[in-house]
Amino acid sequence: MATVIKNGLIISPEKSFRADILIEKEKIKKIGKNLSTEECRVIDATDKFVIPGGVDVHTHLDLDLGNYRVVDDFYTGTVAAAFGGTTTIVDHIAFGPKNCSLMFQINKYHELAKDKAIIDYSFHGVFQHVNEDILEEMKKLVREGITSFKIYMTYENMLTDEEILKVLFKAKEVGVVIAVHAENNGAVEYLREYYVQKGNNKPIFHARSRPDSTEAEAINRMIYLSEIAGYPHLYFVHVSTKKGLEEIIAARKRGARNIYCETCTQYLTLTEERYLGEDCEGLKYIMAPPLRKKEDVEALWEGIRNDHVDVIATDHCPFKLEQKLQGKDDFRIAPGGIPGVEERIEIILTEGKKRKIPLENLVSKLATNPARIYGLYPKKGIIEIGSDADLILLKENKKVISTNNRHGAGDYTAYAGFEVDFSVDTVIQRGNIIIEDDKLLVTKGAGLFIKRETAKYPVR
Ligand code: MN
Repeated sequence: MATVIKNGLIISPEKSFRADILIEKEKIKKIGKNLSTEECRVIDATDKFVIPGGVDVHTHLDLDLGNYRVVDDFYTGTVAAAFGGTTTIVDHIAFGPKNCSLMFQINKYHELAKDKAIIDYSFHGVFQHVNEDILEEMKKLVREGITSFKIYMTYENMLTDEEILKVLFKAKEVGVVIAVHAENNGAVEYLREYYVQKGNNKPIFHARSRPDSTEAEAINRMIYLSEIAGYPHLYFVHVSTKKGLEEIIAARKRGARNIYCETCTQYLTLTEERYLGEDCEGLKYIMAPPLRKKEDVEALWEGIRNDHVDVIATDHCPFKLEQKLQGKDDFRIAPGGIPGVEERIEIILTEGKKRKIPLENLVSKLATNPARIYGLYPKKGIIEIGSDADLILLKENKKVISTNNRHGAGDYTAYAGFEVDFSVDTVIQRGNIIIEDDKLLVTKGAGLFIKRETAKYPVR
């Protein structure tokens, strides 16, 4: 049966307007005033906002780190996402066995996600070594719908500058997006050892050992490497600092192209004081990059206002408190990551509104831009005729976030006590109501793997 969403205030990046939406066979068929509701299921959206289903392009579901495993699998993680209004994720996958192919890990993730995910999903490939075979393999993955790949400038599987350059040249040729975790590995490793040797093993030293310069230096180096390679699509994940963002702004000013900037909810709402909490409370917030200072938070919000930041994602990577507490005598032992896939949209709309950032702008960062950059647009990320009918109805009412009203498998939320002004009311995925009246109305495995295209609609 067709569905009509009646009289909602539709928010799109370019404009907002009140209209009806006719959904037929999973797609948006018509948008207009006074659409006929004959033989249609009608959803009354009067007094509600209608925005595109959220697109979170940075999650880590079922991530296996060897010594720790993330607590949300593709079922609980996507249930949490759906309750928060996110209808598509692109997951950053784990490293595989040494020397494994790119496809090996993608295949593994297809197994992890199928029959479990309740929202649509894709994966970013990940580089953990570089040789001719691996570089050539990118083309094959593009045919499989995997059109972006992550590289790390730190951690055990980091690439050297020489390897990064090889990847960038090939990415330029193939047309894929390279997502990069930018931190200066040498500085971070040195500072961690330096602090712990001096007995500074508390969570705050997680932040002290990853100062903003480590991020800014890596971003700057990466941008110059991409210049050498002729500017392939280069996407910085989880930019957390004013300094880092300034490197991106400066590069664009001097003509650097195809550079995209992501930040995450936590870097827009939490500060490093969180590491100073009593009784190992700070361990809850161990993640890389770490939480920063108030001035960084505000600089990132200005970046959103001025479109210097393109995407707001989550880096959803939840662990239980018990796992976090392994780091009580040495912050380096605690697994890094926090939950956030459920909180993103309600918190960002609320905090953005406080700063008088238009909802249209925020929707572009939460749905449209990530879809455009990662080859999901116009299927996802926008309310337009022909797009998948992935949309959410939001109502304006106050709600306090607490562990009790979360839906993931974790046992805490990093945003406990946050009061939000917007609540996700109804979630529609490809025309099906998957959440209504706070109830899940979808069966396990209803989410589909979405083959992505190479970026035809870059945001800048
Ligand atoms: Mn991540």
